[in-house]
Amino acid sequence: MYRGLKVVDGHADILYRMESEGLSFYDVNSRLHQSAVNIQKSGVDVQVFVTFIDPTITPSEQLYKVLSSLHRFHQEVEKSGSIELITAMEDVDRLIVKRTTGAILSLEGADAINGEIAVLHALYRLGIRWIGLTWNGANSLADGVGEERGGGLTKFGKEAVKEMQRLGMVTDVSHLAWRGVEDVLAIADKPIVASHSNAYAIYPHRRNLPDELIQGIVQSGGTMGVTFVPHFVGDRENQSIDDLMVHMEHLLRVAGPDGVALGSDFDGITETLVNLRSGEDYPLLLDRLIDEFGIDIAKKVAGENLLRVLRNTIH
Ligand SMILES: [Zn+2]
Repeated sequence: MYRGLKVVDGHADILYRMESEGLSFYDVNSRLHQSAVNIQKSGVDVQVFVTFIDPTITPSEQLYKVLSSLHRFHQEVEKSGSIELITAMEDVDRLIVKRTTGAILSLEGADAINGEIAVLHALYRLGIRWIGLTWNGANSLADGVGEERGGGLTKFGKEAVKEMQRLGMVTDVSHLAWRGVEDVLAIADKPIVASHSNAYAIYPHRRNLPDELIQGIVQSGGTMGVTFVPHFVGDRENQSIDDLMVHMEHLLRVAGPDGVALGSDFDGITETLVNLRSGEDYPLLLDRLIDEFGIDIAKKVAGENLLRVLRNTIH
């Protein structure tokens, strides 16, 4: 809780960086953007812990890495009791009252599933409640934005999205090629999120989304997660929260107050906005939301919109 806001960060690659760089979550000098200390300072109540796997290795090698990341979460993050895993909505409500940070496990890029619904079920049982369908390349579900042909969902991808929604996992379309986003929206009966993407109308980067898709996401009951990645914000030097606010204002105009949330991409980026360098700087942004949009909209953007998505998705 920060100034009465329930804060949810929809995307930080903490598990990826712990796995790939061997960084410690609890070390007070940890180089993680969202280390335990920084999460404490950030005011974040629910953090989506993302594992991203090197997409150049085979799907079965990726699955080993996913399992290793999940083990690391249980051994090195969850064991101390200051972070608790969320697998059901009642966990969220309980942890907010208890003032303990909740963690949602997320997979960025579903390559490891490799056409097997059984693997999706196993990942669900291991606690994963949020899946980004692709990274930039193609996999058995769909094409990512980096795939030139820009295809939509495969037959298996449609089956997987329906099964994710039935099980109670959040469907995340950030990184997906735009045709895939259209396909997901056409079959979705649960809220869809783009956990870390900004507005293409403000800065035309392939990872940002055009207004029609943003509006489709909101109509599904979902939300955009505004992301702090400098090269999705714009191309000026020394970009700051000011530049991020331009995306926010546009998104509030086209998506309305129910369609804007936060997805930092901390620990998935090497460069940061000049005054949003790690979780420690989160309060600056939260103050700014309250000052610019007022407390009611700030509450929605800071966390209530993603809490609504969780409430309508996970059981
Ligand atoms: Zn990403």
